Amino acid sequence: MTDYDLNTVVACTRCSRLMDYVDRLAPAKGHRREDYWNRPVPGFGDPLARVFLIGLAPGAHGANRTGRPFTGDGAGDFMYPLLHAAGFANRQAAASADDGLVLQDLYISNAVKCVPPQNKPLTAEFKHCRPYLAAEQARLPNLKVIVTLGRGAFDSYMRLCLDHAVIQRLGDYPFAHGARYLLPDGLWVVACYHTSRYNVNTGRITEQLFIDLMEQVRGLAENG
Ligand code: SF4
Repeated sequence: MTDYDLNTVVACTRCSRLMDYVDRLAPAKGHRREDYWNRPVPGFGDPLARVFLIGLAPGAHGANRTGRPFTGDGAGDFMYPLLHAAGFANRQAAASADDGLVLQDLYISNAVKCVPPQNKPLTAEFKHCRPYLAAEQARLPNLKVIVTLGRGAFDSYMRLCLDHAVIQRLGDYPFAHGARYLLPDGLWVVACYHTSRYNVNTGRITEQLFIDLMEQVRGLAENG
């Protein structure tokens, strides 16, 4: 996959709709607008990670506020304790970018680095942001497994693979929770339901489903 200058991602303004949205975004109750990150949110984690977890996009009052993926919102509140239990994080809670959270064997980012209205990036916004995803992947020399949270992240990652001729047909890789594919480049892709508050509240994703999936991911990382 091609490289891209990750150092510029926080200054990227390529998606005008997302720039307009963040300009208008009112802070959540109890917060001040000047405390919000309100810029593209880069990934973070273990540079020697074997596992790369890709979400959809920053939450309006989570990652877009704190500047770190899945930090300060319901999706992270659900996920980080489970990642801790699975040995991928040194602590259960993720409240701010300087809270001491360290990921182990795991790197986390989003398919789209800027917060979208209604959590729905447009096709063009996924496309604009894919070079950053490729650059993040290129910086992980030990990578074995990509975990995608939700269909949007899965589709964008598979489109990236198609664009780089890693795969030949998107139709060979349908999305389903728990689906896993060994790609021709030797990496595994594992699909997971998103850990959004909506999916948690409706029971689409449960703690046990996520723990079971991450156990499988650990096995793939260790035994391929
Ligand atoms: S979503 Fe990605 S490509 Fe679009 S402005 Fe943000 S960082 Fe740039």
